[in-house]
Amino acid sequence: MNVEFPKVRLHVDEPLAEGASLTLAESQSHYVGRVMRMREGDALALFNGTDGEWRGAIRTVARNAVSLRVETMLRPQAPEPDLWLAFAPVKRLRIDYLVAKATELGASALWPLFTRRTAVERVKLERLAANAVEAAEQCGRLTVPRVFEPARLEDAIARWPAERHLLLLDETGGPPAVDALLRIRAERPAVRTAPWAVLCGPEGGFTRSELDVIGNLSFVTRVGLGPRILRAETAALAALTCWQAVLGDWGESPPRSGS
Ligand code: SAH
Repeated sequence: MNVEFPKVRLHVDEPLAEGASLTLAESQSHYVGRVMRMREGDALALFNGTDGEWRGAIRTVARNAVSLRVETMLRPQAPEPDLWLAFAPVKRLRIDYLVAKATELGASALWPLFTRRTAVERVKLERLAANAVEAAEQCGRLTVPRVFEPARLEDAIARWPAERHLLLLDETGGPPAVDALLRIRAERPAVRTAPWAVLCGPEGGFTRSELDVIGNLSFVTRVGLGPRILRAETAALAALTCWQAVLGDWGESPPRSGS
């Protein structure tokens, strides 16, 4: 067993510093006390998105409230890729899957966008956020992706921050994603540290005019993901993968060793 990194890892909202005390929220207390059956003195890992990762020791276990003392820092906060995933929402189970996997793949923000042919009408943001927290706890990242309020695609594009590069996933074909990213990396090294986003369309696909309008914007790189039509969540995750491999942080290794 690895003594440095406790197995149970929780995201909290409170500031983390040596000697701080905090009480876990009800659902986390239930998880720690009832599900994991942890007791006074047991250690867990804590992160809040800004203060790094800390070792916390359980002080008391009450029915709906586990209190902790923050002990030592396990890892300092470190910069992470600034890669948004903007996507047309898909149905329940598949959006849950997409959010969890995009979190594991290091998306820094998730932005549901309604395109012309988006069939899903409502998005449960709290559910998305809860899925993102759970995936972040599990995969060891030090942040939880932000979840933005859903918007209409055209409004999002109209107020798009021009410095943020956009990878448009065009199911009608385009330069292969990896080739396009490698070319950008070689010809414009500054983009490596620039903010980025992936834009993935709905099950019904983008309309021709959406592809034409967006494809021609200065900050947009239009790409294809091969000859097969991918389900939206597959396409989004494949694109995040290509981006991480070429421009992202895949040169680094997970902090934990052993199991
Ligand atoms: N109904 C559409 C497919 C939509 S797939 C059709 O039959 O053409 C959903 C989204 O996934 C697309 O809008 C696109 O953003 C992305 N996607 C799927 N397959 C892709 C591919 N081969 N290349 C690039 N993007 C793809």
